[in-house]
Amino acid sequence: MTKINTVLGPISPEQMGPTLMHEHMVLAYPGWDADALCEHLEFSELAKICADAFGEVKQYGVKTVVDASPNDLWRNVELDRIVAEKTGLNIICATGMYYEGEGMPAYLKFRSQVMDIVTELYETFMHEITVGIGKTGIKAGAIKVATSHGAITPYEEKVLKAAAKAQKETGVPILTHTQQGTMGPEQAALLISEGADAKKIVIGHMCGNANLEYQMSVIDKGVCVGFDRWGIDFLFPDNLRRATVLGLLGLGFADRIVLSQDCNAKILGRPLVMPDFIQPLIANWSYTHIFKNIIPQLKQAGVTAAQVNQMLVENPRRIFGG
Ligand SMILES: [Zn+2]
Repeated sequence: MTKINTVLGPISPEQMGPTLMHEHMVLAYPGWDADALCEHLEFSELAKICADAFGEVKQYGVKTVVDASPNDLWRNVELDRIVAEKTGLNIICATGMYYEGEGMPAYLKFRSQVMDIVTELYETFMHEITVGIGKTGIKAGAIKVATSHGAITPYEEKVLKAAAKAQKETGVPILTHTQQGTMGPEQAALLISEGADAKKIVIGHMCGNANLEYQMSVIDKGVCVGFDRWGIDFLFPDNLRRATVLGLLGLGFADRIVLSQDCNAKILGRPLVMPDFIQPLIANWSYTHIFKNIIPQLKQAGVTAAQVNQMLVENPRRIFGG
């Protein structure tokens, strides 16, 4: 039977339960720690902030959370492990790389000029899934890839190719980041043409596009779509995300949608003050927003408990468990 890697060891698909498919422990852009005035939190302090925030999902029955942070966004699996221990949640961490504009370490920029980085990235992904991350012994349970707005750069294409190859051999799901849903069909097509299993691909952040014809051009590839940015109204309003998911549910696609919020407990660096006009547009953004607000609204619009269960429980179990 398929075993799923969590940061505390393998679990069976049946143990997953209600699952948030795309969240983050912290958000830390490459270079944050080069800021002399960045906040220096003790690791234990940071772990407490993350555990307190993550822990709130338990009251809504959540059992599993995927920390979709890629290697180049200060993914920290020790932090994941402590939070899993403190909260009792299953936490699945990822191996992978972010999109070129906000990720792509200079290391890879340099190396790609002379070396075959598709092979090197593939070896990294394989190692982190089958052997472990660093010396922690923690194994990645998913592969994260990402592309730019309206483009897949040559670097991103290499990451996707390496991910498809590692997925083919290990069977772990690929979770993607799109910029507002752009390049969704292209991501799916590229991954599948490189041998990835469509049933184990989630094209992420598709809730940033309200065009049902576009949504179906992604779903038609056999993959799932992530409605995984609820509460980030300054990127795309929740009411349009809601209209879109209602449309897809009405068409019978409950088995192709997963829900999450792409939230983080802390942004690392110098304290960040959002401009006034953004404040109300992120007021609801939290790990519990879909339970407090979105699911009740969907139910009011006629969505059944079975459909919610499909999106929160059955789809994640099938995507991870096969
Ligand atoms: Zn994310």
